Amino acid sequence: KDSSLTRNFCIIAHIDHGKSTLADRFIEKAKLGVTRGPAQSQILDNMDIERERGITIKSQAVTIPYTAKDGKTYELNLVDTPGHVDFSYEVSRAISSCEGALLLVDASQGVEAQTIANLYMAVEHNLTVIPVINKIDLASADIPACLHQIDHDLGLDTDLTVQVSAKTGVGVDELFESIVTNIEPPQGSDAAPLQALIFDSHYDAYRGVIVHCRVVEGVMKVGDEITFMHSDASYKLEEVGIFQLGLVKTGELHYGDVGYCVAGVKTISDIRVGDTITSVINPAKSPLPGFKDVKPVVFSSIYPVDTNDYEELNDAIERLKLNDASLIYEKDSSAALGFGFRCGFLGMLHLEVVQERIEREFNLSIVFTSPSVSYIVHMRNGDVLHIDNPLTYPEPMQVEYAEEPYIRANVITPTQYVGPIITLCMEKRGVQTGMNYLDEKRVELVYDMPLAEVLFDFYDRLKSISRGYASFDYEVNGYKKTDLVRMDILVNGEPVDALSQLVFRGNSQKRGRQVCSRLVGEIPRQQFKIAIQAAIGGTIVSRETINAYRKDVTAKCYGGDIGRKRKLLDKQKEGKKRMKMVGNVEIPQGAFLAVLKSD
Ligand code: GDP
Ligand code: MG
Repeated sequence: KDSSLTRNFCIIAHIDHGKSTLADRFIEKAKLGVTRGPAQSQILDNMDIERERGITIKSQAVTIPYTAKDGKTYELNLVDTPGHVDFSYEVSRAISSCEGALLLVDASQGVEAQTIANLYMAVEHNLTVIPVINKIDLASADIPACLHQIDHDLGLDTDLTVQVSAKTGVGVDELFESIVTNIEPPQGSDAAPLQALIFDSHYDAYRGVIVHCRVVEGVMKVGDEITFMHSDASYKLEEVGIFQLGLVKTGELHYGDVGYCVAGVKTISDIRVGDTITSVINPAKSPLPGFKDVKPVVFSSIYPVDTNDYEELNDAIERLKLNDASLIYEKDSSAALGFGFRCGFLGMLHLEVVQERIEREFNLSIVFTSPSVSYIVHMRNGDVLHIDNPLTYPEPMQVEYAEEPYIRANVITPTQYVGPIITLCMEKRGVQTGMNYLDEKRVELVYDMPLAEVLFDFYDRLKSISRGYASFDYEVNGYKKTDLVRMDILVNGEPVDALSQLVFRGNSQKRGRQVCSRLVGEIPRQQFKIAIQAAIGGTIVSRETINAYRKDVTAKCYGGDIGRKRKLLDKQKEGKKRMKMVGNVEIPQGAFLAVLKSD
C-alpha cells in the first residue's frame, strides 16, 4: 500500500461555520453514491439529537477517494470532530489522528472563540492548517475582514487561504487540490510494531463495539491478537475496515490509515479514547502520547418517575454506556425518589443529551436531581473527601473548609457588549485575568470563574446579552477555596432530597428564593395548600405557598361528548405518569431540572 497517497485531515470551526455542510460536499464530490434530499441534514451527523441541535457529538470519519489534477488517486481521510466545549478531549484525539486541518471561518461572522481554541489545538499537534473562508455566497460575506483576521488574529498565511461556499460547492475542487498539495502524507513504517490511536467508538447491534482508530505505525490485520495499552485488555481482531457511509471491510489497515476494528469487546470501559492499540506478539515499547483519563465534571442522579421502571432504566443506562464511554454511573437511592443512578457527565450538554436519549430511545420518564460539580472537602480530622452529591455532604461542624473547581473562560465579543459581559462575569464570581483587543471591533476576555457558576445559564445569558455575537470556550484549571453550604428544599415540611444543592453561601438567599418561586410555577395546584421552603441547616431562607385548587378538566365539555371526555381523562392520566409523588404532593418531572435554571 502506498501511503504517500494518503491525506488525513479534520475540519475545525466555530459552531455553525459550516463544518458539517462542507463534509457533505466532500462526500458528494467524492461520488460515494449519496444524494441527499433537501430536508435531510448532514451526512456525518448520525444521531437525531445532533441533527436537531445542529452539533456533532460523536466524531465520525469517512474515507474519500479523490483523483487529483496530477492524475493520481488519493485516499483522503476526513475525521469529523465534535463541536461543543464539553467534548474538547475528544476533539484533541481526533486532531492528533490527522496531519492537517481545514480551519473554517464563516465569511459573515469572522473568527470566534472556538476558532481560536481549535487552532491552538491544531498547532499544538503540529498540523498543517489551511485557512478556509466559507459562505462566500452570502451577501453579508466580508472576505477582506476575514483575510485580515486570519493574518492578524490567527497568524496564518493568507496565501494558503481557500474561499468556498460549502452550500453551493464553489471552491471545493480547489480545496481538494490544496489538501493534496499542502498536507503531508503520513510518516511511518509497516515494519514497526503496531500503534493505533483510538479516537472514538460506537456500538453496533450486530458487531458489538466498533473502535475508530488511526494507525500510526505498523499494520493491523484480521486475526491479530491486540492489546489496549492503557486498559491492558487483550482481544483478537475480528474485523478491520474503513468508513464509507457505512463500514467497508478491508481486512487490514496500514500505517497512516484511518478506519475501524471490531474485536469482540464486551466491556466498553476497555475502550478509552486516546488509548493505543498494539500487537500482543510484537508490542510497541510505549503507548502514543496524549492519553488522558477524562473525568466527568457534572454529577446528577437519574430516577425513574415510576419506581416500577427501575429495571428498564438500568437497561437503558447500560445500553447508552455502550455508545458513550464517557458516561459514568453507579447505583443511588433517595428518600423522595427511590432507587436510581448517580451519573457523571462531561458537561450540561452531555447531561441533556443523555436525558433526551433515555426519554426518546427508551421511552422512559425520568427525573434528574440538581446537577453538582465535585467539591474537595477538607475535614477537621484531616480527611479529604471528594463530594459531588449534596446528600453526602458532611455536617458543617466537621468541615474545616471546602474547595470548588474553577475554569479558565475565554470570551470573544464585539466591543459594544464588553460592559454587560463584564457585569455578567462578575456576578458569576469571575476574576478577570486578561483583556485583549483583537482588532478595532473585537475583544477577548479571559476570566477565572467557578465551574458551578457557568454550568446552568451562563452561556444562554452571554448569547442574549450579545445578541448571539459573543462566543465562549473554557477549560477546567484547578480548585480554589470556597464557602459552601447545603440548601434543602421542603415541600409541606418534607425535605425533597433530590432538590438539595450545594451552593456558595453568598448566593444561597438568592438561590433559595429562585428555587422556591420556580417550584411555585412548576407544581400545579392541588386539593390542599402547599408550603415550599428553602432551608440552610435549621434556618428557613425563603418561603412560598401554593393555594389549593381542584382542577376539573372535564368541566369544559358540557355533558354529551363521552369520547372527548375520555380523551381528556386519558390525557390527564398521561400527565400523572410524568408526576413524582413526594410525600402527598405531586411534582411534575420537569420541575426538577427547571428549578435549577436561574433567570
Ligand atoms: P457546523 O456547526 O459547523 O457543522 O455548521 P453546519 O454545516 O451545520 O452549518 C450551519 C449553517 O450554515 C447551516 O444552516 C448551513 O446550511 C449554513 N451554511 C453552511 N455553509 C454555508 C455556505 O457556504 N453558505 C451559506 N449561505 N450557508 C451555509
Ligand atoms: Mg455540524
